[in-house]
Formats: sequence, structure tokens, C-alpha cells
Amino acid sequence: MTDFPDIPLGAEDRELADGVRAGARRAVAKAITLVESVKPEHQKRAAALLDHLLPDTGKAMRLGITGVPGVGKSTFIEALGLDLIARGHRVAVLAIDPSSSVTGGSILGDKTRMEQLSMREEAFIRPSPSAGSLGGVAEKTREAMLICEAAGFDVIIVETVGVGQSETTVAGMTDCFVLLQLPNAGDELQAIKKGVVELADIVVFNKADLDPVAAERAAGQMRSALAMLRPASDHWQPPVLSVSAARRTPTGIPSGNAMADFWATVERHRQALTESGELAAKRRHQARAWMWQLIDAGLRSRFRRQPAVAAELPKLTEAVAAGTTTPAAAAKRLLELPGHAYDNLKFD
Ligand code: GDP
Repeated sequence: MTDFPDIPLGAEDRELADGVRAGARRAVAKAITLVESVKPEHQKRAAALLDHLLPDTGKAMRLGITGVPGVGKSTFIEALGLDLIARGHRVAVLAIDPSSSVTGGSILGDKTRMEQLSMREEAFIRPSPSAGSLGGVAEKTREAMLICEAAGFDVIIVETVGVGQSETTVAGMTDCFVLLQLPNAGDELQAIKKGVVELADIVVFNKADLDPVAAERAAGQMRSALAMLRPASDHWQPPVLSVSAARRTPTGIPSGNAMADFWATVERHRQALTESGELAAKRRHQARAWMWQLIDAGLRSRFRRQPAVAAELPKLTEAVAAGTTTPAAAAKRLLELPGHAYDNLKFD
């Protein structure tokens, strides 16, 4: 329980919490569904549940993975997941797919992905929540991550595609952020231009089997590019690896120890950040930023729901678009409407 246990847990949800803590995958799925629900009643229950589970969270290795569609994310994650399970870990895979919230279609989330991994008791795979904005989706994914941690999954992988802000979002909720790249000329330039490379703690060139020479060349170029960037940490210079996630043995684990090498790198990163105190600082910073994101989102939605604002907003939005009023004047007017959002803020 936290220091502010203001929300009681109902009997049904107490049972759900026990199920989660026991690591039951059905309970985990049910708890995440509750968290993802937009119904106010469910949100209250979800808040109480999370509050209750909080002491059991925070112990997992939180890994973010990004890369363009087709780079091999699901192939890589499945191979990594199977390898980790073989070495005694329990692995949860969550996805943030910004495309699903914008278009209703999904680049990441179909169920046929990671078939072998999804059949394992020691794995839990959850596609992206589809409702709401990216902010909302990210919020739900963070909460899903906590539930998985409370259920004893000791490795949480959050996967995303490089659309919009999603990479920054995932880097902002994980301990180690991995960029998967294709060894195509120009691909690394694009990632550098977009600023994704600066977020990466580890860069991996996948599909090295297709053209090993090109993969080595691309890795070399990436190393030079990274050497020129100011590293985000004083204690870690992002390494560049190349792997072939698709070259599997019958157990589903790639031959040649690719995943073991990758995981050893992840563990070295964790050790460097733990010893320097950076991991704890990073998580504190992420928790504060998350709180402010929730406050911003809450204020914004309450502001929009104010009757005076709801009445004025369409007109003023039009006027700003037409250039007949300035954005600053319109914003000032909305913020100063009587019966205003912040005068009498009601939290429900
Ligand atoms: P995602 O969209 O990033 O999740 O990519 P997928 O994991 O679905 O992979 C896209 C395609 O690339 C699939 O046909 C995979 O079989 C193939 N693929 C993935 N990794 C490798 C690899 O290391 N080598 C080769 N040759 N193909 C791969």
C-alpha cells in the first residue's frame, strides 16, 4: 500500500489482486482490461487495484524496443523471449502502437505474431490498447507494465514502431532502450536525423545473415555516428551489435548465441547504471514526468468538459484557423472564461 491509501479495494478486486500476485495470466489479462477501460467506474477500481499492487512493482528489467515495420521486432522479441525463458526468466511483452489509436488499424498488434512465445506459460503478450490518444495509450501501457511486474514477470519488453512521439514515450518508461535497424544504406541516416539514435542505449542491426558485409559496414558507420553524439550517460557508450533473429534452432532460439550476447549487453548496461546510481535517478525522473503527464491530461480533459469552454471552443478554433483572431487571444479568452475549469476543479 502507498502512503496515500485513499481508495478501498472491493472484494472482487481483492481476489483479482491475489490472482495477479500469484502470476495467473488470466488475472493479469483481466486486470489490464480493467485498467484500459474508459468507464469512470472501472477507472476508480483500476486506480485502487494499482495502488494495492504498487509494493510488488518495480523489480523487473524494463526493456524498450523500436524499429520500422519489417525490421524484425516480433522475430527478435520471440527469439529473445524463448531464450530468456530457457534461462529461468518470465517475460511480458507489451506494445505501444500509435497507428492503432489514429487509424483503428494496427501495425503491431495482430495475434498471430510470436506464436511460439505466446504458447509459453512463462510469457505474457499483450497487444497495444487501441483507445484514445498516444498519451492515453502510453498511460495504459505503463499501468499494464506495473501489473505484469506485480505478477512476477521479471523482464518487461515494451515494443513500438517509429511513428510520432512513440519512441520518446517508450524510452521514457523503460530502463534500456534498444533500436533495431536494417543494414540498408541510408536507414541509419534516417534514424540519426529523427533523433532516435540519441535515445538508444543499444543499437542492433538485424538480418545480418542477408548480407554480412553490409551489416558490418552499417554497424561501423553507426559506431562512428554514435561516437560523435554526446552520450546520454557518463557511464555508458551505446554499443552496436549485429544479429540474425530469424536463424533459429528447433527450440526457437537463434543459433550462434546471438540472444545470449544481446542479453549480456543489456545486463552490462543495467550494471553500469545501477553502480552509478543512474538507474534509480532515471526511474525517479520517469515517475515525476509520468505524474505530470497525468496531471496535464486530466486538466486538459476537465477544461474541455467545462460548459462555457465547450460552448466557446468551436467558434474560437474556427476563428484561429481563419486568422480572424490570434492563438494567444483565443487561448487567453478560453482560460479566463467565468465558471472556469481551475476555479472550481472537481475531480471525479
Ligand atoms: P516487425 O514488423 O518489425 O515485427 O518484423 P517481423 O518480425 O514481422 O519480421 C519481418 C520479416 O523479416 C519476416 O518475414 C521475418 O521472418 C523476417 N526476418 C526477421 N528477422 C530476420 C533475420 O534476422 N534474417 C532474415 N533473413 N529475415 C528476418
